[in-house]
Amino acid sequence: MTREELVAWLMSAGEPAYRADQILGWVYERGAGSFQEMTNLPVGLRERLAEEMELNAVRALRVRQAGDTTEKFLFQLSDGALIETVLIPATPGLTSQSDRHTVCVSSQVGCAYGCRFCASGLAGVRRNLSAAEIVDQVVHVQRLSGERVHNIVMMGMGEPLANYEAVLRALKILNSPWSLGIGARKMTISTVGLAPQIRRLAEEPMQIRLAISLHGATDEVRSRIMPVNRKYPLRELIGACEEYRRRRQRQITFEYILLKDVNDTEEQARALGALAARLAAKVNLIPYNPVEGLPWQRPSEAQCRQFQQWVKRYRVAVTLRMEKGTDINAACGQLRLQEERRIGAEWSLAAVVSGSTM
Ligand code: SF4
Repeated sequence: MTREELVAWLMSAGEPAYRADQILGWVYERGAGSFQEMTNLPVGLRERLAEEMELNAVRALRVRQAGDTTEKFLFQLSDGALIETVLIPATPGLTSQSDRHTVCVSSQVGCAYGCRFCASGLAGVRRNLSAAEIVDQVVHVQRLSGERVHNIVMMGMGEPLANYEAVLRALKILNSPWSLGIGARKMTISTVGLAPQIRRLAEEPMQIRLAISLHGATDEVRSRIMPVNRKYPLRELIGACEEYRRRRQRQITFEYILLKDVNDTEEQARALGALAARLAAKVNLIPYNPVEGLPWQRPSEAQCRQFQQWVKRYRVAVTLRMEKGTDINAACGQLRLQEERRIGAEWSLAAVVSGSTM
């Protein structure tokens, strides 16, 4: 709910408008988990709120601290679906604020895009998340971790631009001064490359950052690993990116997962360098973390560094993250690919079914 919607509801309930700020203060500043905690509201209003509204769109099942400093949150939705959200304390290469807290947020249950290197797409998309479920991931991460969130990356499960309205509504709410007040420039939408929605995003007044999961720098290679490229080939995708850049004056980031003998060749590096130079885009190279059951392999460190040098010749900013198995490698699909398997192994279904909560 936006503040305006809450005010309208309160007025229709015969309550003064200032109650909205009291309620929003409890939700976003004080992290209240129930209406009963809102002790400066009349008891009758608290009861009515509890009857007519839902304060928690997600429910935390478990929190896990990774070997590195990331924290992973497994959330259950009202229909039982599971999603995961990750708190990343430092994000070199991902955002400009390397010393701040970033939350990697999911936008859908499942994913419809079926990238070949990603298990997330294999089962298809189950449903879009609501704006409440997106906002609540951030609110709950902040509440449970005790850390203030500075950056949001829409890089978790799902394709955010395929759930455009809810994602934009959620980001607008999170940006509002009456909620968490996170700056639009600290928000990144990562997309598989839905050209029409990128053009639509270019029209939005909010200065949101855009990251493209590129992973292939020619149509031949990209179509081989990303079926979406057949619908929106590079020419169309890059055209949409150019429009975004022209209108928004914002630097775009290309995420590029390096797959051995697939997209790590000099020819791909040259094509990638040329595309990035054309758009003045930043490039994030992410060596693939092999996953059982999928045929793709991680290139050697020497090959990754060589690839980086080839791209650098085009005078573009290119970062290479060599850490193995860290959640910073959370470019579209990699995170869920790793995490869903880990959830299966480590967070046994029994724990979930028995409702083991925080
Ligand atoms: S890589 Fe991203 S867009 Fe592709 S299938 Fe996986 S989650 Fe979907």
